[in-house]
Amino acid sequence: MADKPKVAFYWCASCGGCEESVVDLAEDILGVVEAVNIVLWPVAMDYKRKDVEAMPDGSILAAMINGAIRSSEQEEMARLLRRKSQVVVAYGACSHLGGIPGLANQFGRQRILDYVYDGAPSNVNPGHVRPQVRFQEDGREVTLPELWHVVRSLDQVVEVDYYLPGCAPTPKILKAALGALLSGNLPPKGTVLAPDIALCDECPRKATKPADMTFTSFHRPHQVKIDPEKCLLAQGLLCMGPATRGGCEALCTKGNMPCTGCFGPTSRVRDQGAKMLSSVTSNIQAKEEKEIDAVLAGIPDPVGTFYRYGLPKSLLRVKPGGPTA
Ligand code: SF4
Repeated sequence: MADKPKVAFYWCASCGGCEESVVDLAEDILGVVEAVNIVLWPVAMDYKRKDVEAMPDGSILAAMINGAIRSSEQEEMARLLRRKSQVVVAYGACSHLGGIPGLANQFGRQRILDYVYDGAPSNVNPGHVRPQVRFQEDGREVTLPELWHVVRSLDQVVEVDYYLPGCAPTPKILKAALGALLSGNLPPKGTVLAPDIALCDECPRKATKPADMTFTSFHRPHQVKIDPEKCLLAQGLLCMGPATRGGCEALCTKGNMPCTGCFGPTSRVRDQGAKMLSSVTSNIQAKEEKEIDAVLAGIPDPVGTFYRYGLPKSLLRVKPGGPTA
């Protein structure tokens, strides 16, 4: 047991789906447990922060960190695991790109707290109570992590060696990544561990995607009857496939749902949202402003559509007028 390579899993700002994706390895997880010594996995095992602090620096082979960095505690844990690990893997879309929690970069911290603790219709908070970072009573002090102003991807806080994309990463790419780590057969640092091709290249609807696309209207999936064979973008459904990295086995488009972009961009694309936005807007058939507005009304949440997973890593990082970067 002592000679096995040590691996750590940690969970920052995310939904928990990445933790479940480890279990999605199904019976293959037995092979992982056989090959490594898991030294931290708060969702499943009772190791503490002090256990990691007591380890020599660099003694963990790999730390798989999922979730964005939103709080002081998450930043401290990311820095601690960076120090203790030879390899840090940004695990999943939130760690890789900021993810869904990164959409909070449209708003200031105060506005978020005001809504969550006062404005939300289900709240009753006549004293306008807010969580305090420090609270003292009867000589005892209670502390809570501090919420930062902006959400950051893992590599905006610590150096990241590899990225495992997806919301959540699929068992196939996780298994391949673990195999590469354990064999030492690793690609150059900074590599995203998934094929560097656009999703359209592996999508079974590819043959029906027109070479020249013209958009006359956009719909959300619940508003139309979707043809299960035809390219979704050609049906006016905003499928992010052209701007998104493949490797997910086209799970969403095979399931009759448009790609929402969770694998992030290929290496040739700097800003996934901007690429898709420019391709969509330059192919709208209408020429008059009023008609163009009518077409764009079919995309009611542009930031949540084009930057669903990548606002913190985009060129914008935050919405102008939102939090201070
Ligand atoms: Fe498939 Fe979407 Fe690309 Fe069309 S746009 S080929 S549905 S990934």
